[in-house]
Amino acid sequence: MDSLIKETTPQLSRKRTKQKEDWKCNKLKKERYTPKEPPNLRLPYDHYTKAYRCTSLNHTDIIAFNKAFYKKTYKIYQDNFIINYTKVTTTQRHRPVNHRGNKKQMAVTYYARRGHNVLIPICKRTLLSILALKKGVLNRNFKPMGEIAQENRGGRRKTQICT
Ligand SMILES: [Zn+2]
Repeated sequence: MDSLIKETTPQLSRKRTKQKEDWKCNKLKKERYTPKEPPNLRLPYDHYTKAYRCTSLNHTDIIAFNKAFYKKTYKIYQDNFIINYTKVTTTQRHRPVNHRGNKKQMAVTYYARRGHNVLIPICKRTLLSILALKKGVLNRNFKPMGEIAQENRGGRRKTQICT
């Protein structure tokens, strides 16, 4: 984020400078959202079904999708990126559960982009593999399914200082 407010030079400012802290903070933050390794071009499964068409992605698609994800190295961008390629549908169960009426079930579909426009449904494992993410990431990010991710963590807004 570019700030339009000009900082006064440390000598003129009465406030203690935090430049060094910010730098360290920025560096740590960036590291967390920077890929640790290049994308795995080998897909975990050879899916080519109605639900998952993982194998219809070629190496160029995998690299491009990975690159697009890591284009920006901060959490909000990456969360929103995944949300953009996630579709959540709620299905009504036909049989009542525990005699308490119908229980809604959520079905999540993940997509990757092939070429410029085509969205390919893929399995979760493939998505994680392409984006070089750990398993837990998807569960953590998608509490408010389908909504735009927001920075709503409490406490001191350190993130605002070091984005
Ligand atoms: Zn798959």
